[in-house]
Amino acid sequence: MSTFSPRNRRLLSGVLSSERVSGAYAFYGVAGSQLQAAAAFFGMGILCEFLQDGEPCLTCHSCATIGSGQSIHYRMLSPEKWGIDQVRDIQELVQYGAVGDRMVVVISQADRFTTEAANAFLKTLEEPPFGVTFILLTYQVMSLLPTIKSRCQLLDFPVMPVSVPGQDNPELARYEAEFGQGLSIPYRPLAEVLGLSLDERMKYAQEIATSKPEVLVMLTAWLRDSLALDPVLGAQIWQKLIATVSDMKYNVNLRLHVEKLLICMS
Ligand SMILES: [Zn+2]
Repeated sequence: MSTFSPRNRRLLSGVLSSERVSGAYAFYGVAGSQLQAAAAFFGMGILCEFLQDGEPCLTCHSCATIGSGQSIHYRMLSPEKWGIDQVRDIQELVQYGAVGDRMVVVISQADRFTTEAANAFLKTLEEPPFGVTFILLTYQVMSLLPTIKSRCQLLDFPVMPVSVPGQDNPELARYEAEFGQGLSIPYRPLAEVLGLSLDERMKYAQEIATSKPEVLVMLTAWLRDSLALDPVLGAQIWQKLIATVSDMKYNVNLRLHVEKLLICMS
């Protein structure tokens, strides 16, 4: 399971809690550093209706629409190149300020601005429209133009290696352990569950289907984990998790819901 740096996650949570979100950020790292997962986490946090301790709730209307790629407040822009036309598109998008109170615009491959486009975009970055936060992503920070860089809060993301059971990434393992300690049911990260056989999943469903509040906490962690998966698989799993959370509200048969979820998640 790969996810973005727990250290940066704490840092971004701190920014969200303090409500001192800047107008422009640049997240950078090499391939594998999960910049998009970090942008989704931070963007969700900025827009979340029920932010808790600097963490997006993942279930409010805003979080759910971002997760399903349908939010008009969270825009991910990833054109083939960043020329003057693409910058005009951004400017059009934000010309009247944020839609609603806040808006997050994620700009991927921000190192690909032509000089002309960068100069045009600088004006927008210098005076960010009201309520708009830009998150620039780049895997080539050396190619990010200095003028653009100087107007962003920079955050460096280390690579988070894929965590295989028994071959742990210490920082990720510590984070998972801290999370698991708070629960009385045996917590397993989403990636580990996806690797279980059908029999093992059934056994695991029996172990955890003992406490509805704790299962809900665990599903919230899995929702977050699903952001770091391959986008297609992540979106499918996200929908199944949201449907399960919603069904659980109206039905008391916890074990049935947990079993159904564990069987259909793949
Ligand atoms: Zn939310």
